[in-house]
Amino acid sequence: MKHKHIGFIGLGAMGLPMALNLLEHGYTVHITPHRNLESIKALVEKGAVEHTTIANLAAEAEVLISILPEDKEMEAVLLAPSTLDRLSSSCILVEMTSGSPEMMKKINSIYVARGIRVLDAPVSGGTIGAQNGTLTVMAGGSEEELEAVRPVLEVMAKNIYLVGEVGAGKAIKAINQMLAAIHMIAAAEAVALSEELGINKDILKQVIGNSSGGSWMMLNKVDDLSRRSYIPGFKHKLMKKDVQIAVNEGINLKLPLANQALQMFLSSEKQDGDLDFSSIGKYILT
Ligand code: NDP
Repeated sequence: MKHKHIGFIGLGAMGLPMALNLLEHGYTVHITPHRNLESIKALVEKGAVEHTTIANLAAEAEVLISILPEDKEMEAVLLAPSTLDRLSSSCILVEMTSGSPEMMKKINSIYVARGIRVLDAPVSGGTIGAQNGTLTVMAGGSEEELEAVRPVLEVMAKNIYLVGEVGAGKAIKAINQMLAAIHMIAAAEAVALSEELGINKDILKQVIGNSSGGSWMMLNKVDDLSRRSYIPGFKHKLMKKDVQIAVNEGINLKLPLANQALQMFLSSEKQDGDLDFSSIGKYILT
């Protein structure tokens, strides 16, 4: 095992199961509390090393993994002088947040100036993929950096794609999220129409899921939409953030569906931000 010591920052719906998988595969995982102490307890029980500060965690990291909510946390945590000053120049940052390409490039330039290598590595596959170690990684960076951390990534992911330079990972993730938001709204419309027309939801799922109108959302989210069950999962406010990134990146383009999706997520964020993003169905289903 080349890199045994993993510093792990962001122990939420995704980070907790990812860190647990690393522990199970024999890595030493270094963590520090933020607000939620449940994740810390679960990880320490499995052998994680708890530190009092991110700076102390950073000092131990051969590979530093971060999967934080969005740009502002990426900037606050990864560019804090206290973090930067303690990172070894032999450390590799694997940045897995769904953030913006610009923030990723900013962090990269500051890290590279200090001799620290960076892999931009957002993921898809949801909390189930995080638990099962079957995520998809959309890596931006060089082949060399990817190969250096591949064994670590393979504990968490089934599919690992090198998609371009640092920033390209965040870019393709934003495209994926734009589609996922649109497909969720479309799936909710399909459920609404099927209820109106008296079509059984299992038949809907099976037939449309295997037809030209099908999507991942049709195959995987019809049950939750039919039950009006909006337990997260992937939070509404995170999807709003992702569609906002896509719309910002496409500011010079006509993206009517993405803009419409963004408006729907923006207008419901206050009440639904902490629900699953399928809760957008509340505004379609009666
Ligand atoms: P969560 O909100 O569940 O977790 C975020 C984590 O970051 C929490 O552990 C939180 O700690 C921690 N955190 C926040 N601010 C800080 C800080 N300043 N210092 C240290 N830790 C901090 O989000 P998810 O895990 O769902 O998502 C994380 C990222 O992964 C997002 O960018 C999301 O878009 C992306 N993603 C999520 C998927 C999903 O299905 N959930 C799927 C694919 C990608 P605390 O709770 O203690 O505040």
